[in-house]
Amino acid sequence: MVHVLEQAINTHGNLMAVWVARRPLRRSPRIMLYDVPVTNMVREAEEAAFLQKLRSSNSFPDSMDIRVLFRKPGRGPFQHWILSVAPELSSAIKGTNRLIFGFGSFKFREFLEPTQCYKCLRFGHLRATCSALKELCTKCSGDHSYRVCTAASVACSRCMEYNRRRGTGPKVRTDHSALSVRCPVYLRERDEMGRYVNYV
Ligand SMILES: [Zn+2]
Ligand SMILES: [Zn+2]
Ligand SMILES: [Zn+2]
Repeated sequence: MVHVLEQAINTHGNLMAVWVARRPLRRSPRIMLYDVPVTNMVREAEEAAFLQKLRSSNSFPDSMDIRVLFRKPGRGPFQHWILSVAPELSSAIKGTNRLIFGFGSFKFREFLEPTQCYKCLRFGHLRATCSALKELCTKCSGDHSYRVCTAASVACSRCMEYNRRRGTGPKVRTDHSALSVRCPVYLRERDEMGRYVNYV
């Protein structure tokens, strides 16, 4: 069915010019390594040295790809590193939650978090590439920063938008912050992401 639709769109005169239909690409599994110490090395060199040591400590063959995608602030002076790993590697480390690193180890978990824009609070892009004119409040969904919010109750702008689009269909709850891990739109987005991970 998807194929038929893809064909139809790609061969339709008007649509073809503006839009090429593509099924979402399958992507490699991601893991988050907790509390990696920060060094003062140049980023590329730091990552290369780190991955080399991680590889040899765990006997990962060179054929299995590992890359650092980005980092998040961790506890104190540490960072959490988000790595993209080959599907074979992901299946090899399934069932454990630590990777050996020299004489120590790092805790990790699978990373399945949608990319979220902290300006318009939608998924799929970052603040740096956001085209929205105004920042939305993560607490009340008003057009101001959460830092100056005085609202007494919370309302999720994503779920409000979802409900508006649903028209008369069933509605989702909106009484949570846009950062809530229980937000129905967030959960749906995360499930959707999981469907496109290339596991072996
Ligand atoms: Zn945005
Ligand atoms: Zn607000
Ligand atoms: Zn929500």
